[in-house]
Amino acid sequence: MFSATVGQTLRTYRSRSGRATGDIAQAAGISAQQYEALESGTGWPGSQAFTAVVEALQIPAEARSRTGLNFCERPLGTAIAATLKGFTVPAIVVDHTWRTVGANHEATGLLPELGRPGWSLLRWILCSSEARQQLVNAADVAGTFAAVLREALALAPSDPDLQALHEEIGADLRARGATQYPDVDGLDLVWRTDSGPYQIVSLFVSVPARRPDLRQIALHVEPLLLPGQDPDTAQWSEAVLAGIARCGTCQGAMAYEWGPVYQCPQECFPAVDATALEDQLAQLLLPRVYTVGALASLAQLQEVMMACGREPALPAPVSVRHALYQWRHQMPMSARRELVAGWVASVAVKPGGSALANAGFALDICWLPEP
Ligand SMILES: [Zn+2]
Repeated sequence: MFSATVGQTLRTYRSRSGRATGDIAQAAGISAQQYEALESGTGWPGSQAFTAVVEALQIPAEARSRTGLNFCERPLGTAIAATLKGFTVPAIVVDHTWRTVGANHEATGLLPELGRPGWSLLRWILCSSEARQQLVNAADVAGTFAAVLREALALAPSDPDLQALHEEIGADLRARGATQYPDVDGLDLVWRTDSGPYQIVSLFVSVPARRPDLRQIALHVEPLLLPGQDPDTAQWSEAVLAGIARCGTCQGAMAYEWGPVYQCPQECFPAVDATALEDQLAQLLLPRVYTVGALASLAQLQEVMMACGREPALPAPVSVRHALYQWRHQMPMSARRELVAGWVASVAVKPGGSALANAGFALDICWLPEP
């Protein structure tokens, strides 16, 4: 079923009334820029201004609930809450001032405060000393977020929280915010965690079509081998494909057994050599993970880390071939497991030929949606 965005609904009512954007903006007491951003779904002027717009357009109360314009001050809708839970990466929903409205389990695992309603990610990045300790590239991130603040303030100039924050961040950051572009999509946060290793997450921000007052932020984890994962401490007792490899004949979960081998519970075919199976999977997986773009991004992140005096346990791979070499000879089990878990939903193993290796079995891989 077709569902119009809030901006599209407003535009429809405005065209019907035959009035110009500037006219409605004036009647609602906001700028033409603010009104146009609301219609195009790129900005939120605040609940009060939004209500004034709906009044100015003389949309009847019945039509407001029918077209979903009556969402103001409503907490997280069930659809958005369900989407949030469905993310396998840390994800939060914030209001237009970047204060938390909801968070999933993965997000609170990364930073407990992310899940506290009313907590501000924008304020945390711009003002807290904790952010400067936790993020290796805090200075770069703060510059981009200063621009985010400037943009948010331009669209909701009377918002007291944004105004206060703008005062607090100081002249230097304000100046950087004025010159930078607020490009948060794909922004990398190099995260210093308690256990030592770095976690690198890439931000992706989207606006739900029916809730222009909210922002959905997903934090995608980058596949870089982090310091602290020492190749010598590899846990060889743990199988890379445990819970992922299935028998292609009976669909039973294949068990990891002494050898090491993977074995179907009903022994549909002879046990498969674990190293050969994992290697074949790597040959299919690594070209998907280490695309040209991903390799460039990892090289850049490595530079940021090294500039901060931290060297990764394994250098960022320079090619798929290099990544395959690392997989075979240098990567600890935990890192391989993490890589596989982030990309592969399941692998069905069947006896038969293989183009990649003369291994006597074939893989049918079910990939996870691309991060
Ligand atoms: Zn079987």
